[in-house]
Order: sequence, then C-alpha cells, then structure tokens
Amino acid sequence: MKYKISVISGDGIGPEITKCSIDVMKSLEDKLNIEFELLEIEAGDSALKNNGIALSDEAIDKIKTTNACVKAPVGESAMEVIVKLRQLFDLYVNLRPAKSFPTVKSLDDNIDMLIVRENTEDLYKGQEFRIGDKAIALRTISEKASTRIAEYAFNIAKTRNNKVTAVHKSNVLKMTDGLFLECVNKIAQKNSNIKFSELYVDACAMNLIRNPKEFDVIVTTNMFGDILSDEAAQVVGGLGLAPSANIGDDFALFEPVHGAAPDIAGKNIANPIAMILSIKMMMEWLGTTNNDNDCQIAAEIIQKAVENSLENNIKSVELGGKSSTSQIGEYITNYISNYNL
Ligand code: ATP
Repeated sequence: MKYKISVISGDGIGPEITKCSIDVMKSLEDKLNIEFELLEIEAGDSALKNNGIALSDEAIDKIKTTNACVKAPVGESAMEVIVKLRQLFDLYVNLRPAKSFPTVKSLDDNIDMLIVRENTEDLYKGQEFRIGDKAIALRTISEKASTRIAEYAFNIAKTRNNKVTAVHKSNVLKMTDGLFLECVNKIAQKNSNIKFSELYVDACAMNLIRNPKEFDVIVTTNMFGDILSDEAAQVVGGLGLAPSANIGDDFALFEPVHGAAPDIAGKNIANPIAMILSIKMMMEWLGTTNNDNDCQIAAEIIQKAVENSLENNIKSVELGGKSSTSQIGEYITNYISNYNL
C-alpha cells in the first residue's frame, strides 16, 4: 500500500537521525509491497528563526494531508511544536516502551514495560500566568481523557502480560489525580481478568530502579509519564534507544523520546536507533489501522535489524561503542536490504 508521511527533521541531532530513518523507510520499499510519499515539513527552532513561527498554519495543513507523521526532536520550541500537535490532532495516547536490548547494559535482563502516558492535558496544557510576585500553573485532568487512556492501557495489556499499574499522586493532588484514579478504577473493574495495581509516582520512580521487571503496562498522567519514561529508557540502556508513538483515533505521530541533544549535534555521534524504532512503531500502527500485513512484517524486520546491529557491537558512543550515526544507519539499512523474506 502507499502511505503519505509528513517528516519533521527537527533541530540539533534531528537532521542526522532523520536521514538514517528515511534510508530505513526506503530500504523497506525495496523489500515489501509498501510505498512512501514523504512530505518535508519545516517546524521547530529553525522554522522559528527562518519564518518567525515554529509551526505555521501552512505546516499544520500539510501534515493534515498525510497518513502519519515522523518527527525528530525540536529544540526550544517543543511547546509550540509537539505539545501543540498532540493537542491539535488529539493524539491522546503516548506509548513509550522500555525493553531490554541484546548486549546493552540494563538494570536487569528481560525488562519489558510499556508506559501509556496521557498526552493532551495535565500541566502541559500550558495554562500558566503571573499574578504579582507569583507564577501559577493550572493542572487539568478530565474524566474523558482519563477514561480513554485507561481503556487504551487495559486493551493493550491484553496483548501483553495482562498487568496494569496506575501511577499517580492522589494523596496530595486529591482532586486531579483523585479523578484520574477514579476513572482508571472504573475501567479496572470492567477488566477483572487483568491484574491491576496502583502506585504513587515517587514509589514508582524508586521501583523502576529496584525491580523494573515488576512492570508490564504503566498508565499515568502527562507529566509523570514524561519523567518516568526518561527513567525507564535509562533503565534499559539510555535515551538513544527509546522510541515513542503519539496516537489518536485517526492520526499518529512517531518520534524518539529524547530531545534535540545540542551538546552532540553535528558530530555524527548521535544514536539513530530511538528514531528508527519509532519508524518501527509507525509500521505497526499503519499495519493495524490499514490491515496491512506488509507493514507488520516491516516492523519485525526493523526490530531484527536493530538487535542484529547491537549484537554485532555496532554501537554509538553513549553505549560505549565507536560507531557513528551514519555507520549505524547504514548497517541497519543494509541488513534490511539483504534480509531474506
Ligand atoms: P527535552 O527536554 O527536549 O526532551 P532533554 O533535556 O531531555 O531534552 P536531550 O536532548 O534528550 O535532553 O539530551 C539529554 C542527554 O542525552 C544529552 O546529554 C544528550 O546528548 C543525550 N542524548 C539524547 N539523545 C541522544 C541520542 N540519540 N544519542 C546519543 N545521546 C543522546
């Protein structure tokens, strides 16, 4: 099938890891019955500098014409780009898997968890203001958003190990997290076959280090999910390996968990795997939403290619390796091109 994909190359290490990801997509086209029409979208700090706006209406309209979006990290304009896109396209689920990789130092073997983060509200609605000498932020938690994220988490748990942990701080945030927990509890009662537990966010932060294997699906609010997913990424090897998906009812956007990493930009040392695995998540989503088995096969091949690169010590500097961004990208692309179906 043919898919129109919008591509935001982003800032910092964005363009370097985007190139590897596009090469991966092209190698899949040669292998399977998949065709991509790529639409480059200017957004982020560079767009702000060039056009005076980080995400223009024109860019948004162009994204709307596509089936899905692939996005590299943007720099300081993240709030105007990704947070806005999540809200505008109602991408209410943020999936952030953390799974052990072969040969990568991890806190334990066989860790396999999935953070299901609410993606449209909480403090990230950006409702902040100043009154005199005070700065105030409003935290919005709604029944609708909490219920739909809980439903998503329980449904996806059925495809995994049937275990959901709700993470919150309802002892302090009595109204907001109280409502979140109330909604999750209702969905838990409808899914009595799924093992359900709840945990305060501080205890969760500790247990992710103490016993990461305890977790299967974690469902949580926006900011806690943001913070815990960086921690979970480090537990299994680091941000350079952590992909994510932002999913709505009709559209989805795929991006690495990490930021633009200005400290290593332009040096050809960034790890492209987080973004390549985000392409894998896109292939899974395209496969499921379009009933396209070739996309599912593509996702499996990407996973194998990444694992093979790590097994063969094709590793970036932050993982203790010596391979450059482009060398890792080329290795993974060649693996896919030479893959025997
Ligand atoms: P943001 O708030 O935008 O998510 P951040 O503050 O979490 O950004 P990052 O840009 O993600 O910061 O970088 C955090 C650290 O991780 C930096 O030292 C950066 O170099 C490193 N890092 C991030 N992504 C990668 C990558 N793909 N490969 C190697 N190192 C990375």
